[in-house]
Amino acid sequence: MLIVQKYGGTSVGDVDRIRSVARRCLEARAAGHDLVVVVSAMAGETNRLLGLTRQVFGASAPSEREQDVVVATGEQVSVGLLALAIQAAGGKAVSLLGHQVKIVTDGTFSRARIKSIDGGRIFAALGRGEIAVVAGFQGTDEHGNVTTLGRGGSDTTAVALAAALGAGACEIYTDVDGVYTTDPAICPAARKLDRVSYEEMLELSSLGAKVLQIRSVEFAMKYRVPLWVRSSFGRDPGTLVCEEDEAMEDVLVSGIAHDRNEAKIAIRRVPDVPGVAAKILTPLAEADVVVDMIVQNVSQDGHTDLTFTVGRSDLEKATAIVKEAVEPLGVRKVDTDDEVAKVSIVGVGMRNHSGVASKMFQTLAAEGINVLMISTSEIKISCVIHEKYVELAVRALHAAFGLDAPAPVLAVAAGRG
Ligand code: ADP
Ligand code: ASP
Ligand code: MG
Repeated sequence: MLIVQKYGGTSVGDVDRIRSVARRCLEARAAGHDLVVVVSAMAGETNRLLGLTRQVFGASAPSEREQDVVVATGEQVSVGLLALAIQAAGGKAVSLLGHQVKIVTDGTFSRARIKSIDGGRIFAALGRGEIAVVAGFQGTDEHGNVTTLGRGGSDTTAVALAAALGAGACEIYTDVDGVYTTDPAICPAARKLDRVSYEEMLELSSLGAKVLQIRSVEFAMKYRVPLWVRSSFGRDPGTLVCEEDEAMEDVLVSGIAHDRNEAKIAIRRVPDVPGVAAKILTPLAEADVVVDMIVQNVSQDGHTDLTFTVGRSDLEKATAIVKEAVEPLGVRKVDTDDEVAKVSIVGVGMRNHSGVASKMFQTLAAEGINVLMISTSEIKISCVIHEKYVELAVRALHAAFGLDAPAPVLAVAAGRG
């Protein structure tokens, strides 16, 4: 079987870990599989490279073309090292960069989307009995410029490769042993899920669970790639991201996600006439600012308040655009808040149940947490709250929706006789 494995930054964080990944790769080969391995940059490297570009250019928007040229190098180092480690352990491997496997993307630097992949060079390597070690996160646009796929983008490289090559499975090896009911780093009671549906995973990823980049889940769902999330340090079979089945619908809430990358813009006393929202939101879209939740208050004396959220790193740019757009409308007050976060509950079981939203609001209220904005879809409910309460909110909702792992059973020391 052809398998695509992906190892994240922590899994290739130092030379010993790279050697241990090499051993795992050789085990898969010894089991008779053809193997394509995607790797991320070594832990912390992408941040370090980004930091360098900012030092040179200053904090405000560095040239994204050059930024991509710099940050894509992190993966170049790790593919080379892993190929060497496999060879040192007696295996055959070849490293391949994005342009060498013709991962063609659109031209949106720093968050490009994959348009096509040419499997030729990989199949040739596999035909020679080599393990193909492919750099994650990077591609080139149609003019040959280096592009990157957005943070966490190596997941997407792996799943897109699995889809393009017709792999039997895509295995994402990371520093947790699967997809959990919520981020185990902030909720000790989080439980590992054996299976999660593509649709739920899509929501969890888009709402902040960084264990899989959202585009990777989109690819897996579209091309029906069986996707496993596993630990690169243990042997647990991990979590299978797969088609939904009836058993999944019996669970009301399967997971909770949170996202601190949120900022709120409130425009006060906007004239409540047709076309105003478009006048404000269109220039934001044109400037590539993604607007998330939007709330418009009930109109009073022909005016209303329009509030929405954007990614925190876009706040400065968005505020300037909004101020310019609302000036001709006579609006004087634009308030911003970058200390907000979003907490969301997700579950396909919500489709057929009522009362989920009220339970969420009651739970937050009982903890004294004020809900600033709400948005819902068929299988999720999200609330914007003050950032300082986000961990408390996650833990309270986790308990309220029955997701907490049972307390460990203490071994009884006393014998019987
Ligand atoms: P990698 O470097 O391997 O790509 P990431 O740091 O991108 O790893 O993703 C793994 C991290 O995702 C975990 O360490 C965990 O803290 C976080 N995470 C957030 N939500 C979840 C979740 N629901 N299940 C598992 N991990 C999660
Ligand atoms: N190295 C990139 C990042 O840190 C891509 C990845 O790890 O998936 O975001
Ligand atoms: Mg990641």
